Amino acid sequence: MSIEQNKVVTFEYTLKDDAGNILDTTEGASPFSFLSGKGQILPKLEDEINKMIIGSKKQVKIAATDAYGEYNEQAVQQVDRSSFPADTELQPGMQFVANSPEGKQMPFIVSEVMDNNVKIDFNHPLAGKNLEFDVKLVDIREPTPEELAHGHSHGKGGHQH
Ligand code: ZN
Repeated sequence: MSIEQNKVVTFEYTLKDDAGNILDTTEGASPFSFLSGKGQILPKLEDEINKMIIGSKKQVKIAATDAYGEYNEQAVQQVDRSSFPADTELQPGMQFVANSPEGKQMPFIVSEVMDNNVKIDFNHPLAGKNLEFDVKLVDIREPTPEELAHGHSHGKGGHQH
């Protein structure tokens, strides 16, 4: 069986890297929900969830190349400290968004702060990591007309607005 497009799919997950470190989990929080067929989660993960039945559990392994890509050294750059607002106290791990010349939003992370320069990293935080999702499919339901119009799920685990 497979899930049709435009269903609100709710699942619980724990995400680990291949060394077993927990990177993210819905445990102790709301399960995650998304609108199917819209590319709102990793395609490979959605494919595997499509094959599950409600209430079942599965371990889904996704190689870095099928997840957030290989880590790209070229995506690490050095910029002048003056590129940042003077009153911002820069710390490694801080996230910012730059605008590309085409107006595209490009999130990056500060990886190193030096006296006059700052090393910034445009890699996704999960780039280069092979991922393991422990998934439990909780629910599949019809979207409300409002959810369909917005193109995302609402309520617990979905968009809050
Ligand atoms: Zn909405």
